[in-house]
Amino acid sequence: MSVIFENSRFFRQQGYINGQWVDADSGNTFDVTNPATGEVIARVADMGAAETARAIDAAEAVQAEWAALPARTRCNRLERWYQAILDNRKELGQIMTVEQGKPIAEAIGEVAYGASYIKWFAEEGKRVYGDIIPAPMTDKRNLVIKQPVGIVGAITPWNFPSAMLARKLAPALAAGCVVVAKPAAETPLSALALAVLAEEAGIPAGVINLVTGMDAPAIGSELTSNPKVRKITFTGSTRVGKLLMEQCAGTIKRTSMELGGNAPMIVFDDADLDIAIPGALAAKYRNSGQTCICSNRIFVQDGIYDEFIERLKSEVEKFSIGNGLEEGVTHGPLITEAAALGVESKVQDALEQGARVVTGGARSENGPCFFQPTIIADAVPSMRVFREEIFGPVAPIFRFGNEEEVVELANNTEFGLAAYFYTENMNRMWRVSEALEYGMVGVNETAISSEVIPFGGMKESGQGREGSRYGMDDYLETKLICVGGLDRK
Ligand code: ADP
Repeated sequence: MSVIFENSRFFRQQGYINGQWVDADSGNTFDVTNPATGEVIARVADMGAAETARAIDAAEAVQAEWAALPARTRCNRLERWYQAILDNRKELGQIMTVEQGKPIAEAIGEVAYGASYIKWFAEEGKRVYGDIIPAPMTDKRNLVIKQPVGIVGAITPWNFPSAMLARKLAPALAAGCVVVAKPAAETPLSALALAVLAEEAGIPAGVINLVTGMDAPAIGSELTSNPKVRKITFTGSTRVGKLLMEQCAGTIKRTSMELGGNAPMIVFDDADLDIAIPGALAAKYRNSGQTCICSNRIFVQDGIYDEFIERLKSEVEKFSIGNGLEEGVTHGPLITEAAALGVESKVQDALEQGARVVTGGARSENGPCFFQPTIIADAVPSMRVFREEIFGPVAPIFRFGNEEEVVELANNTEFGLAAYFYTENMNRMWRVSEALEYGMVGVNETAISSEVIPFGGMKESGQGREGSRYGMDDYLETKLICVGGLDRK
């Protein structure tokens, strides 16, 4: 067991249901492994459908009471939780690095990023306004009020184990909903640590429940079929998102889906490479390429193609790969060996179709989960890297001639999450921004995400938005109250 865990009150291996830390009914556990070292760092309760059903019952028991609290009371508790997370971000970051692999600075940054949603919705929760709509008749008045949707089932991935959960819990709780969440089995510890602090901040028993387990389909089926659950919010693959939506159809649950991406990054001849290169480095290699808004396809115009590649290469070769807890390490492992093998096969496919390795191109000697930061030039649309999410530190560079052609290439995918482009031409800035079929477009910028913006996708990248004032709507029902008979004296 890693030293950093020995005295941490945040290190929990049990699920959290109805304010209790509990084992699986079966007593079984599953292993959580440090991807940098292969070491088993925790044995966590392996729960299934029965524990999920109990968590839903616990949520149901407190739903009305939580919703009935004044927004200010709920939001004050969220503020306390936010502050507690920030105060402990270093320890939470260490836990994340050990289970997920990202460098410690990035992990601490993620904890703070996730917490920023709690702060934001603690404020926004007090501004859930209704509306008064002029009636077409004199004897009526129309009022619109917003009410919490009810019990929310949340399923989160391993790439941002703290922030993806915080981003769902914050608006849900602020709106007056209660939550049963299932963190990814690869990274349950960051989620459990958040629950420790929620409890200390005064979030009552039953308002947040965490069901841990390996059998995602069993937990997911209970969450999606149980009529008490009114909404599913999911971040993960498009494949699983589609499955969950199908399952939700049985009880017409509302859904928010934050699914896969295939982000284009377009660098026009007139781009300023002094900002495009750092933008590409951040968007491509953050979290070793394991984010849904990572630039998946980098399109570079003829005139600057060679210069862009040269400059990107010299920066990528400065990266330091290794265990994210070690000083100076800039990039960690992928989540599993299978993930590294998957990236390798996509690179292989590109090379077989004529791509050229500029740097990297193979698995790394650091360990089975590592892949070298890679650039491949001369990529073409028939390659898998054009169609599929790479989810690894591989930048495929495509050459293009003109704007029309590249916009068509960029939109030629079933995904529509994030897109980026670099240009100094103002007319092009508007034209291309409006033509890209993506939920988020970064112009001369790839660091687009924060709690103040609506994060989400079009097409098969999902539906709903997280963060910003728009994010509140995902957890609210709109109710009409029509008052009539007002013409009587
Ligand atoms: P990734 O490729 O990022 O692991 P997944 O969509 O497989 O994406 O996983 C995201 C989350 O969805 C994880 O918490 C995972 O356990 C969960 N999950 C996977 N399959 C199912 C399923 N059939 N039902 C419910 N949840 C699932």
